Amino acid sequence: MKIAVLALQGAFYEQEKVIRELGAECLELRQPKDLSKTFDGLILPGGESTAQGKLLRELNMFEPLREMIRGGLPVLATCAGLILLAEKSSNDDRSWFQTLPVTVRRNAYGRQLGSFHTVQDFGGMKDIPMTFIRAPYIEKAEKDVEILARVDGNIVGVRCRNQLALSFHPELDSDRRIHRMFLENIR
Ligand code: GLN
Repeated sequence: MKIAVLALQGAFYEQEKVIRELGAECLELRQPKDLSKTFDGLILPGGESTAQGKLLRELNMFEPLREMIRGGLPVLATCAGLILLAEKSSNDDRSWFQTLPVTVRRNAYGRQLGSFHTVQDFGGMKDIPMTFIRAPYIEKAEKDVEILARVDGNIVGVRCRNQLALSFHPELDSDRRIHRMFLENIR
């Protein structure tokens, strides 16, 4: 199995390490020709969504990638990746792929709580460690979106069709259950 990781900006290397650790192959998406390679899943890493979105457009990777996601390519998106997928943002005019019917709030935890760590259930899994870094949360999810996790009442993990999207960074903790779930669903 081969997983493509968007490698324009942000925490892509950490994602690649996890994918390899779990026995799958990795491929970095850096330029349009990388999109013609074959892969079974896609990771949209954390980082800065505006920078990633602009680079995707400038490099002419935006439209082809959006078509792949619309076509059902399995996607794991973390943090900035969630913002790239979201249909809209309540505190930013920009939106990107718009394949995930949710409204996100960027940098939703403010300055004081910019970064924090907690442990919460996720889907059917108990006690998943969650590291948040200037994270968004999901303010509103449309009805075909399955809510997998909340922290303090706010939605931080969802699944909708082929898309699994998180506010936090599971690659920064040592618990591998979320990545395993992503890979198992592809298999
Ligand atoms: N604050 C970033 C954004 O708005 C997301 C942060 C992250 O990916 N850790 O794009």
